[in-house]
Amino acid sequence: MTRSLRLSAACKAGEIAGRLSVKLGRGRGETLSGRVILAIDPNAIAKLSENRDIVIVSGTNGKTTSTKNLAEILRNFAGEGVSTSQSGANMPAGIASLLAQKPRNRFAVIECDEMYLPDMYQKLSPKVIVLLNLSRDQLHRTGEVRKVSNLWNQAFTKDDVTFVIDRDDPFLEFAVANAGHVIRVSFNGRRHPDAATCPSCAAILDWSTGDYLCKCGLGSKLPDIRADRRLSGPQRNAALVIEAARLMGAEILANEATKLIDESPDRIHEFVISGKKVPTHLAKNPESWRQALSDVKADQVVLSVNARGIDGRDTSWLWDIDYSALLGKKVICTGERRLDVAYRLSVQGIDTEVAGSFQEAVAAFIEAPIQAIASYTAYQDLLALELGLTTGAGESK
Ligand SMILES: [Zn+2]
Repeated sequence: MTRSLRLSAACKAGEIAGRLSVKLGRGRGETLSGRVILAIDPNAIAKLSENRDIVIVSGTNGKTTSTKNLAEILRNFAGEGVSTSQSGANMPAGIASLLAQKPRNRFAVIECDEMYLPDMYQKLSPKVIVLLNLSRDQLHRTGEVRKVSNLWNQAFTKDDVTFVIDRDDPFLEFAVANAGHVIRVSFNGRRHPDAATCPSCAAILDWSTGDYLCKCGLGSKLPDIRADRRLSGPQRNAALVIEAARLMGAEILANEATKLIDESPDRIHEFVISGKKVPTHLAKNPESWRQALSDVKADQVVLSVNARGIDGRDTSWLWDIDYSALLGKKVICTGERRLDVAYRLSVQGIDTEVAGSFQEAVAAFIEAPIQAIASYTAYQDLLALELGLTTGAGESK
């Protein structure tokens, strides 16, 4: 079979598989469609990327939102369709599927899982890669931050890709140490919570000047752009996205840039439980927990933590977070790991109660205001409950 015949057969078969998957109620069909495409043509991703302007977004926190924002900017700029994943599918099958759907779109903005980034960096031939941040994620899923940083350091050696990074993140600085072009956005020496030691040689990093420096030579580089150190995680991501858009030719006006940064919230959704409004943060890893905790204003707080599949079975990360923002508040823990959370908080002198379900926890509070922080599957359960798909949100097993 010729090169293009194989690819078009693969895309056709992928399209049929995707449609079938949707029809059978097995989700959006992206993953199945992509798997079929790659089974028939293993080089499909590289072929589908030819002659396109591709940006990749990766990092621990905020990939999906940043990808969406960047695609939106490029769509407005180009006045035409931009290929991007709607659902946050960020592994090779999902990427193959989204590239196959509109092969004539000039721009593609691709969210990529950290572990697959070296492979996608080779296959997609991107113009720009945005690296948002590297911090500890669910341990079993992404591995240690150090491992990812090392993997990237070995992989990123081409001269024809420009990286946009948070210059205050030592893991990212090490990751791009061999890369040709790097745009560094500084948030003025914001100290990285997981970087006590050097990503390159494991010696203790010197942060005494506000910046970091290691005896092996790794240290803060001069920034290309300076941004406000008070920006939250999502706002820092928005600032990186704006730089990436500029590199792709989409200059956005200063007031639009400010608006995008100001309006970048963390993942918060207001659930209504038995008539009570409960703004709930989705927090998937220590960094997003820290962010969520710094946003807790209410005196009544629900913490819901599960340890199913994607959450990570290992919840030792609970011990890496400072919960002092909750001192003096009424806190109720729920979810499968409610006892682990309650014990962790008690060590820090925070009184807690436990409840069998999210609804039970909310019922124990007076009217308002109430705030909640939920781990991934706990949050998904609440969304499902809202859509009427289940009635067991937060229920423990
Ligand atoms: Zn070092």
